Amino acid sequence: MTRVAIVTGGTRGIGEAISLALQDMGMVVAANYGGNEEKAKAFSERTGIKTYKWDVGDFDACQDGANQVLQDLGPVDVLVNNAGITRDGVLMKMSFDDWNEVMRVNLGGCFNMAKAVFPGMKERKWGRIVNIGSINGQGGQYGQVNYAAAKSGIHGFTKALAQEGARTGITVNALAPGYIDTDMVAAVPPEVLEKIVAKVPVGRLGQASEIARGVAFLCSDEAGFVTGSTLSINGGQHMY
Ligand code: NDP
Repeated sequence: MTRVAIVTGGTRGIGEAISLALQDMGMVVAANYGGNEEKAKAFSERTGIKTYKWDVGDFDACQDGANQVLQDLGPVDVLVNNAGITRDGVLMKMSFDDWNEVMRVNLGGCFNMAKAVFPGMKERKWGRIVNIGSINGQGGQYGQVNYAAAKSGIHGFTKALAQEGARTGITVNALAPGYIDTDMVAAVPPEVLEKIVAKVPVGRLGQASEIARGVAFLCSDEAGFVTGSTLSINGGQHMY
């Protein structure tokens, strides 16, 4: 049976690697993105994966986007909530907009997308939802009260929704990456990054493909007994 998967923010960075890993497993993938047309077009040409633009922070747009995927590709079996943004700054300087936007996209996006696909999964009695959290949601990070709160919220969201899906074959898990070599981390000043890498026991940044392998496992048939858990892939930076 061919599964259909939505990967939010699935056209670049960690999301791109996840889209490719799920495609490798034989799934038909719909890669959502937020606005970077150039990257989305190049990704689609390179991989043959269909791309869909909508804002995961917009409830109605998520309903419409998921419906479009359903019409084009069929019922959605797998959802990977990967889209995420940063708007860093210390609390003293952080604006309400920076707080709100990160909560809206990073945490609100998980709710909006789950609302769009969970009823269908319940009906068909099978589903896989993986929410991408963060090491900074587990341990906090200076200058990231918005991001750490949203990501920490994702871990709670995951455990609560896992209980709602457990009896009907739907697993809901979180994956908490450490520092991974993507555009998001490229935005961190080099001197800060150097200090971060020095604290990673394996002594390097992670690769997007190393996160994608974990997601692929959580989305597999074989992972049916894994639910409500958080898989930390962080080079040993925090050993939770
Ligand atoms: P990138 O910044 O490289 O990519 C982010 C992706 O999310 C892009 O595809 C982007 O679309 C999409 N996106 C952003 N906002 C929206 C939106 N409102 N609606 C739809 N899509 C949106 O991020 P990474 O690959 O580094 O990170 C992926 C996930 O992993 C994020 O949730 C991040 O918080 C998390 N993470 C990353 C870590 C890292 O070290 N890189 C560490 C821990 C967690 P577009 O291309 O159109 O802009």
